[in-house]
Amino acid sequence: MNALTVNGRIYRWPERPVVVVCVDGCEPDYLNQAIAAGSAPWMASLDGRGTCLTADCVVPSFTNPNNLSIVTGAPPSVHGIAGNYFYDTEARAEVMMNDPKYLRVGTILAAFADAGARVAVVTAKDKLRALLGHRMTGICFSAEKADRVTPADNGIGDALGLAGMPLPSVYSAELSEFVFAAGCALLERERPDLMYLSTTDYVQHKHAPGTPVANAFTAMLDRYLARLDGLGATIVLTADHGMNAKTDAFGHPNIVFLQDILDEWHGPEATRVVLPITDPYVVHHGALGSFATVHVVGGIDAEALGRRIAAVPGIDTVLPRAEACRRFELPPDRVGDLIVVSERLTVVGSRRSRHDLSGLDAPLRSHGGTSEQQVPLIANRPAPNLPARRWRNFDAFDLALNQLS
Ligand SMILES: [Zn+2]
Repeated sequence: MNALTVNGRIYRWPERPVVVVCVDGCEPDYLNQAIAAGSAPWMASLDGRGTCLTADCVVPSFTNPNNLSIVTGAPPSVHGIAGNYFYDTEARAEVMMNDPKYLRVGTILAAFADAGARVAVVTAKDKLRALLGHRMTGICFSAEKADRVTPADNGIGDALGLAGMPLPSVYSAELSEFVFAAGCALLERERPDLMYLSTTDYVQHKHAPGTPVANAFTAMLDRYLARLDGLGATIVLTADHGMNAKTDAFGHPNIVFLQDILDEWHGPEATRVVLPITDPYVVHHGALGSFATVHVVGGIDAEALGRRIAAVPGIDTVLPRAEACRRFELPPDRVGDLIVVSERLTVVGSRRSRHDLSGLDAPLRSHGGTSEQQVPLIANRPAPNLPARRWRNFDAFDLALNQLS
């Protein structure tokens, strides 16, 4: 076996263990500031021996669409996962998109496992585990439910013992550290050919780049990556999306409550604002991000409505479905008649009454828009013949397997 084709792209068989790391919410400045502060000596050491690119993630710049893009090497128009949540027009219900039944293609990980590679996946939150491990033979578990793994379900019997850490809280930096501790132990013990490690953005939602907690998080990441490097792995680090403050100068959130506005214009039954950031873990962002889709019912001219929404202060871009799906590579059956992207400092909400902001104990930081599209794409080996192209975070496996020397 020397190469595999997955979703139309060719991947070379790895000559040494490959570890792709998705650091949730890793705005490039988190790494830049930590390196400048001397908190990330391993990353600093890549200057001259590694590869340092900036890539674009998928919009909506949310966790699930981007993690699935990275492991399939394809945009949501191919794999189908366009958010955490969508409005199923046939079922007439808003449904979670974290069930693998919504995934339309196989993953690079599953294809390599089928071809005989040893593959391991460790993710922070359990919401991603079933999608990332869909039809994959190998090891796949979440830090969140590391106490409940079984060899039959997860390919491993003792994840807590493997990581050498107690079960972390779902809202903690330790949930991400657990992923790396387990990944290092797996590389030592099992030496998988391919490994995918995916963290959670709990720290990034609360702490800006360059702050003490953010630099401590990057320092932790840096220590584990140095260990993986020392064990001989090819490492590619990227992110699912960036992260920005979504507040005014006093730390108050800038929110466009779009459903309230549309209700005022057209009445409460005429439109449906869907926020695809909505998920069961809303404490750190209050279900507020910079992306929404709007379903229009009952004879409303969607394009005219779009122009009116685009004039609302804080709104950056409004596109009708077809144009939005072309530009952002989205599946047309899983977005509304309009997509709405807010500007960097603003988020889009539904109705004021539907958002519980009592859990926000720090000024709102969030993502979802084009303002959070730039992410790092960094490797610990040089790429001497790198093609000049728009790099995407879902080129991570292409970079790791095909481009690095
Ligand atoms: Zn994320």
